[in-house]
Amino acid sequence: MHQAVRTFPTPATEARRVTILGATGSIGESTLRVLKQHAGRFTVGVLTAQENAEKLITLAREFRPHTVAIGNEAHAATVREALKPLGITVLSGAKGIEEAASMPSDITVAAIVGAAGLLPTLRAIEQGNTVALANKETLVCAGELVMRLCATHGTQLLPVDSEHNAIFQVLATDHLQQVEKITLTASGGPLLRRPLDTMASVTPAEAINHPRWNMGAKISVDSATMMNKGLELIEAHYLFAMPASKLDVLIHPQSIVHSLVHYADGSVLAQLGMPDMAIPIAYALSWPERIAVATPRLDLANIGKLEFEAADEARFPALALARAALSAGPAHLIALNAANEIAVAAFLAEKIPFTAIAQTVARVVEAVEGADVTTIDDVLALDAAARRTTEGMIACIS
Ligand code: NAD
Ligand code: MG
Repeated sequence: MHQAVRTFPTPATEARRVTILGATGSIGESTLRVLKQHAGRFTVGVLTAQENAEKLITLAREFRPHTVAIGNEAHAATVREALKPLGITVLSGAKGIEEAASMPSDITVAAIVGAAGLLPTLRAIEQGNTVALANKETLVCAGELVMRLCATHGTQLLPVDSEHNAIFQVLATDHLQQVEKITLTASGGPLLRRPLDTMASVTPAEAINHPRWNMGAKISVDSATMMNKGLELIEAHYLFAMPASKLDVLIHPQSIVHSLVHYADGSVLAQLGMPDMAIPIAYALSWPERIAVATPRLDLANIGKLEFEAADEARFPALALARAALSAGPAHLIALNAANEIAVAAFLAEKIPFTAIAQTVARVVEAVEGADVTTIDDVLALDAAARRTTEGMIACIS
C-alpha cells in the first residue's frame, strides 16, 4: 500500500499558487485567513463553491483568482455578471468544478464536504498539484485508488485533518517499522456527557454545537455521533498504511493533544496546539517549512491538566461500524460513507432522530455484498446505490 511520503522539495522562492476547492466553507475560510497573513508568499489561483454565490463573489473580489467555479448552475449567471469586470473566468456545474480543479496550481486545498469532493480531488492529483487534503470522505470511499493515483502522478498528499496533520508532523518515516500504534484523539463532541437514554431527542442545534471546533454542519454532526472519528480511522489507515489493529481512539475533551504515535522503544510522540484549523492548514500550505500563524498560543500552565478517557462504543456505535466496514472492505466503506451522508442530511432536516443515524448506516452496510472496487466508476456506482438504499429506508422511518 502507498502512503503519504516525504520527498522534501526545494524551498519555495516564488509565491505559491493556491487552489481552494470548497472555498466558502469552514476550512476554506480558515485557509484564506492563513493566506491573508502571508500575502507575498501565496497567490490565490482558483476558488470553488457549490451554493453560496454571494460569498464566492466577495472572496473573488478580495483575492482575485484567475478562475472561480460555482457548482449550482442556477447561480452561474449571477457570478459571471459580477466577476466580468475583473476578467475572472467563471466555470459552473460539477464539470466546471472538476475543470477548475484540474488547472495547474502549486497546492490544492481539497475542502469540499463529502463524496462530492472525490472527482475534483482526483483531477488535482492527476495534475500533480500538491494536495492538502481536508476532504476525508475521499479517502474513505476510494482510499486505495487515491493513494495509488498519488504514487502514479508523483503527487504529494498532505493531511489537513488536525489528527492526521499531527501524526504527519511527528511520524518519522525512517522508523515506520518501529511504530507500535497510532492513537487518534477525539474531543467526544457535544454529547459526551449526555444521559444515554436521552440521545434519541438530541436536536440538530444541539448536535452541531461543538464545544471546541467551529466547523461545517455535516462534520459537526459526525463529531456528535463520533462517525467523524470512525472516518478518521479509515483516513489514517490509508494515509499512513497502518493496519486497523494499530489504530486506536482516545477521548481528550480539551482537543490540545492532536494525536500520538507510539514506538517500539516505549517513546510516544505527539503534536500539541490550540484547537484552530489554521495551524494544520498553515503547516500543509508551507510544508516542509513552517510559517507564523496568528492564533492564541497554548498556555499549559493556565490549562492546568489534560484529560483523557476511553471511548465508549455503546454511546458512540458509529465507531464500531467504521471499524467493521474497514475490515469488510472497500464496498462496505463506500456504503458506510454514503449512508452516513444521507442520514446526517435527513437528521439535519429533522426527518429522523439522532440515534437513527447510526442505526440506518448499520442497516445499509449490513446489506452490502462484497463487490470488486477497481475503478472510480465502481466507486461512483456503489456510492449511488447506497444512497438510494438509504433514502428508501429513511422514507419508511419518516
Ligand atoms: P463546510 O460545509 O463548511 O464547507 C463545504 C464546502 O464544500 C463549501 O465551500 C461548499 O460550497 C462545498 N460543497 C458542498 N457541497 C458540494 C458539492 N456537491 N460539490 C462541490 N462543492 C460542494 O464544510 P467544512 O467544515 O469546511 O469541511 C470540509 C471538509 O473538510 C469535510 O470533508 C470535513 O470532514 C473536512 N474537515 C473539516 C474540518 C473543520 O474544522 N471544518 C476539520 C477537519 C476536516
Ligand atoms: Mg479531525
